[in-house]
Amino acid sequence: MRTRDSPALVGVTTSGRGLLSSSDVGSANRARLLQSLVDDGPASRAELARRIKVPRATISSIVSGLLDSGVLIEEEPQPPVDGIGKPPRPLWFAPDALQCGAISVSRGAVDVAVVNARGEILSRRRVPIAPDGRTAELDRQILAAASAALADFRGRLSGIGLTVPALCDSRTSAVVACTPVPGLVGTRLPQLLAERFGVPCVLEQDVRAFAVGEKWFGQARGVRDFAALQFGVGVGAGVMLLGHLVSGRDGHTVQLGHTCVDPAGRPCSCGLRGCWETLTSSHWLRSEAVLRGIPGGRDTTPKRLAGRAAAGDQLAASLLADFSDNIAIGIANLVQLLSLQLFIIHGDVVHAGESFRAHLQASVLQRCMPALAHGVRVEFSELDQDSGLLGAAATVLTRELGVTL
Ligand SMILES: [Zn+2]
Repeated sequence: MRTRDSPALVGVTTSGRGLLSSSDVGSANRARLLQSLVDDGPASRAELARRIKVPRATISSIVSGLLDSGVLIEEEPQPPVDGIGKPPRPLWFAPDALQCGAISVSRGAVDVAVVNARGEILSRRRVPIAPDGRTAELDRQILAAASAALADFRGRLSGIGLTVPALCDSRTSAVVACTPVPGLVGTRLPQLLAERFGVPCVLEQDVRAFAVGEKWFGQARGVRDFAALQFGVGVGAGVMLLGHLVSGRDGHTVQLGHTCVDPAGRPCSCGLRGCWETLTSSHWLRSEAVLRGIPGGRDTTPKRLAGRAAAGDQLAASLLADFSDNIAIGIANLVQLLSLQLFIIHGDVVHAGESFRAHLQASVLQRCMPALAHGVRVEFSELDQDSGLLGAAATVLTRELGVTL
């Protein structure tokens, strides 16, 4: 695994040979200020000066440029700390600045939206697509959906984010493999969208975009080490380590779903045996429900099981507990391996309810060394069905602002 290189820390002095010029320092400090807003959220000038350790006058000068250009605005005054002094006015992104096209492809549908840098969805549309369509047909359908949904914002978009349920090569903007929508392999959508709208298009795997979206707009704001995990047909993971999105070799995502948790386990679709995914997929849940004689087992979902369990069905409660423990095994491995502190869950699992989440968190903590378990949280994503769109927008914003993830 690797992460992108951390941004070099830049000093504010210009004395001595080989150091940055004052204009370089200005743009470097501007980048650090924007990075701080993205990493830790809205802040006053004084707070920003503390965060990035530059003089207040330097912050004011940078902020005034960003206010004049309409990138930032001053929010309403907040109560001062300790009740003394001038009420601080947090700086945050302006609603009209940095509007992004966001396209989220899933099996059978494409969602298209315009999202601003505050995570507000200004316009949205969902259009059905042929899930098993050929590449050219899918390209045509998705391009048509995007063209219709984004027409009113043409000329105002900073870029377009495209998220797909697929393994992507971030270096070449290519879809490498895609089980839910096989026709996406070989798609030219990033190129076609960039040509149609005259702005950059960023392609990203959905769960990796979820992680970026959680960092910008969700529960991971201010958190450096966390994972967005998606449970459904398989397991997807977007891992953020020291504030950077972890990539595998060749720009591919890491394959946590195919780490072995049971050497004697079931065969996996990847050709190996006992992968984490074989014990946590929707297929496992349904097949176990059938095996255990739970009514409607063939069509069961975490939500339906939770409903049955809440009504006193012991079989359903037992299956949910086993499902939760299976998910916990892989999460605990991540805690032990990377010392992550926050896991944000996406997918159907979030509809299993709070008692499932609480059981899952407890099960994770039981499986970790006490020193590492401290402070570990497992949360359901609050971005829910907007995760794909907000993640797509966040990938564009990250690129446009030059911040590092
Ligand atoms: Zn596997």
